Amino acid sequence: MFLFNLFNENVYKATSHTVEKKHRVFKEKGLAELIPYAVEKRKKCLENAEKLWKEAKTNFEKNGIEVFFAENGSQVKEFIKAKLEEKELIVKGKSLTTEEIELRQFLEKEGHEVVETDLGEWIIQQRNELPSHFTAPAVHLSAEDVRKMINKKFKTNLSSNIQELTDFVRKHLREKFLNATCGIIGANFVIANPATIMAVSNEGNVSLSARLPQKVFVVTGYDRIYDTPDRMEDLQKLLTSSATGQYYTSYVDFIRKPLPHQRVFLIVLDNGRKNLLESEFRETSRCIRCASCLNICPVYKEVGGHKFGKVYHGGIGSLLTAFTGKKKDSKKIAEFCLRCGSCGPECPMEIQISKLVAKLSSDFSVPFYLKIPLKMMKEQKEGFKKKRKNLIFIGCAFRTPIFNKINKKIKSFGEK
Ligand code: SF4
Repeated sequence: MFLFNLFNENVYKATSHTVEKKHRVFKEKGLAELIPYAVEKRKKCLENAEKLWKEAKTNFEKNGIEVFFAENGSQVKEFIKAKLEEKELIVKGKSLTTEEIELRQFLEKEGHEVVETDLGEWIIQQRNELPSHFTAPAVHLSAEDVRKMINKKFKTNLSSNIQELTDFVRKHLREKFLNATCGIIGANFVIANPATIMAVSNEGNVSLSARLPQKVFVVTGYDRIYDTPDRMEDLQKLLTSSATGQYYTSYVDFIRKPLPHQRVFLIVLDNGRKNLLESEFRETSRCIRCASCLNICPVYKEVGGHKFGKVYHGGIGSLLTAFTGKKKDSKKIAEFCLRCGSCGPECPMEIQISKLVAKLSSDFSVPFYLKIPLKMMKEQKEGFKKKRKNLIFIGCAFRTPIFNKINKKIKSFGEK
């Protein structure tokens, strides 16, 4: 049974393709040169987060945007609930922060209609699933999977032509945008002075969710704060190039004040982020959720995000979950880590992910399959690089043509 469920060809192909595109764009545009400045800016802003948020609150409120600091998910939910009428139609942009606190599920239980408007997020909403990737939530699915789901749920007869499927969803969402009374979006960057919310997206859905409804909630993490707009385009380029291999994203929304027909609320979620900033794991706070580390991870590439069981996957997922979620979930995610060290060099924020996971895991009992590799690494610090290669090899061995063939045979046998 384990073998039948282990591989996901869609995830493997998509992540490999993204890594290739990322490496190409980094080389062509010399993006690695932007990293030192971006990391320094991020470090400096995080060190001054408290002061910058105070400044941001004053400046946003002068512009007519109310700012609310929430200690946890419940406070976010209660704040939004108190501002909503009965049975609102809410259009929502993709946001890991809202996934972390299960905001959509809460609002649905309260009787509101909540519609995810990012294509991938809309697909997984229809399937009642968690996102399986930070930036591509439906990466585990093929066009055929999506076709089957839409035809069954909406009684249509669409082919698996991607254009036909997206046209259907586009039309369906257009109605929702036009009738929505509330919008919820996330923010990739919040600038204190001049107060500005920046949201990066590819489908135009964030612009529509933030501009059309009368009420708009922007939910963001305490770690998203920046001082000034200086060279923010470098951060944006690093984010999009690392995430999808695109030099420019399709849309960057800047929100500085409500439109005349609107009320806009900025909700800043702590949920463990302040503790993370004070801890020995503080460099984790620099994470911009680009998923570059997932795309290269030999385990993630094989099994996809759902096997990690929570919203945050991979090594960085175990670190984030240790502070924003439960220790036992963090431990479960950390157990997937081979300590191969492939992720660190891919991270545009220079987070030493596997080193931090090793530190985090020293609190946990070591699973049996990691005992030997860890012993090897401890004993032979000098030969570390060689051992690292061996571990990558072990991880990638699951991807050899022979293993693949065997697996496909077993899988097809299982389906007979
Ligand atoms: S840890 Fe680094 S590579 Fe991974 S999602 Fe965060 S910023 Fe991106």
